[in-house]
Amino acid sequence: MAVLDIDADLMRALENERALNAILRTAVRDLDLETLLHRCLDILLSVSWLSILPRGGIFLADDAQQELRLVAQRDLAPPILRLCARVPFGHCLCGRAAQERTIQHATCVDHRHEIRYPGIAPHGHYNVPIRDGERVLGVIVLYLPEGHPPHPAELAFLESVADILSLVIRHRQTVERLEEVCAELAVAACTDPLTGLFNRRHFFERLEEAWAEAERHDRSLAVVLFDLDHFKRINDTWGHAAGDRVLETLAAVVRAESRRYDVAARLGGEEFALLLRDGGEAAAVAVCRRLKQRFAATPARLDDGTPIRFTASFGVACRRRARDVHDLLQRCDHALYRAKALGRNRIEIA
Ligand code: GH3
Ligand code: MG
Ligand code: MG
Repeated sequence: MAVLDIDADLMRALENERALNAILRTAVRDLDLETLLHRCLDILLSVSWLSILPRGGIFLADDAQQELRLVAQRDLAPPILRLCARVPFGHCLCGRAAQERTIQHATCVDHRHEIRYPGIAPHGHYNVPIRDGERVLGVIVLYLPEGHPPHPAELAFLESVADILSLVIRHRQTVERLEEVCAELAVAACTDPLTGLFNRRHFFERLEEAWAEAERHDRSLAVVLFDLDHFKRINDTWGHAAGDRVLETLAAVVRAESRRYDVAARLGGEEFALLLRDGGEAAAVAVCRRLKQRFAATPARLDDGTPIRFTASFGVACRRRARDVHDLLQRCDHALYRAKALGRNRIEIA
């Protein structure tokens, strides 16, 4: 008998180790958190010596530590999927496990099992909190045959699983946050913070690319430089914040009027640029005319509704007449300078 017990203990330990290893191996794979928890749940449900029924779920807790959200499940009854999609801390067995940060065990659907529905089958539960110090990251819910008492070896194993899931969840959440921050940084690196248009550096990078592409396929390409007229006066008259409002309004118009594959940028101060891929002189002039009309029709507004009218001068240049990117920009600049010199609020072509 003693030999048999040792064999059973050994088999159990081996199976535990295999399951925990499998969970860890899953955790290092590049999966999103929900898929990962799903796989971990399946590994847990496949441990043969546990008395659990072949169904269960994993909840994640919200940051405010108020609510659990069911993110992974296997074979839960449809009413449970609906009723347990979100469970407040403190409510029902899973909510209690989260609130009290201790494993809840039930031999039957007792008074603590607040979520129930007509015809619910008799069962017991292990509800295992996944802890990170004082915080709860989630809860594992497992089903037991009715009347099954708490089993020390099962409880110890489930604590280990919860500890590993805590690591898994924290690691995945850190990776996801890092990816979000990297994406935000990548956007910030090419965006002008005031207007949300692309910034100078990004514009010139895209222009170089577009020039190379246009040369390779012998396509047209045009650049428009435009600059607010008498912007200093606007600032002097209405104040710097109102000047900023004008810049934002102009940017909103430019965004609305440019096609998705054009590149609209704020090069600095009150100077802007538009890169029109696959567009010639006529197309560029048409865009400038439209912008000019839209600027006239869309004054910036102060908080009290006071309109601030603004105009801009435009310089247009296209690839066919230019030797290289530098020459293209210089021509554009000259055209803009001419538009200013000839009285502003006009379009000149290089
Ligand atoms: P022009 O018609 O010849 O372009 O005249 P202008 O007054 O627009 O040009 P100028 O270069 O003399 O003045 C540009 C002004 O733009 C001066 C500067 O204070 C203002 N400016 C530059 N960047 C910003 C900004 O981010 N916000 C605000 N409000 N003003 C800015
Ligand atoms: Mg100006
Ligand atoms: Mg200027």
